[in-house]
Amino acid sequence: MGTIDTKEIRGKNTKKVTTLSEENQYSCYQCGKCSAGCPAAPFMDLLPNQVLRLLQLGKVDRILQSNTPFACCSCFVCSSRCPKGIDVAAIMESLRQISLRAKNDDFDVKDIEQEELEKIPPILLVGTFRKLTS
Ligand code: SF4
Ligand code: SF4
Repeated sequence: MGTIDTKEIRGKNTKKVTTLSEENQYSCYQCGKCSAGCPAAPFMDLLPNQVLRLLQLGKVDRILQSNTPFACCSCFVCSSRCPKGIDVAAIMESLRQISLRAKNDDFDVKDIEQEELEKIPPILLVGTFRKLTS
């Protein structure tokens, strides 16, 4: 049986992020402005600038183990604040796509109580399905 080249897998995932987001993570110089303005930062395991740093190091799997890509609410504050013009929100979206393509959904309707389900606006449910499920 052949050995798995984990370096190669890491490299492929890093390339996928670059391809899907069309952004260059290597131009990030860790100023932290994205994280400082992120409204979802208190709910994230990793801050946006930490995501960029891990991407530079090729540690995509470490990012995918965190809740950060799905905690991101796509508000684009990070992208508008980045002095290097990196669209951090697009990078978060590409990370979500990689997770969802691997069938790692972040939401299951079965987890919602019936009573709560009746109160939730349908548009919220549809939006949640679109963003958090494959
Ligand atoms: S797009 Fe996501 S990562 Fe960027 S500031 Fe908004 S919530 Fe934070
Ligand atoms: S604002 Fe831009 S350069 Fe600064 S840490 Fe975030 S991604 Fe990197």
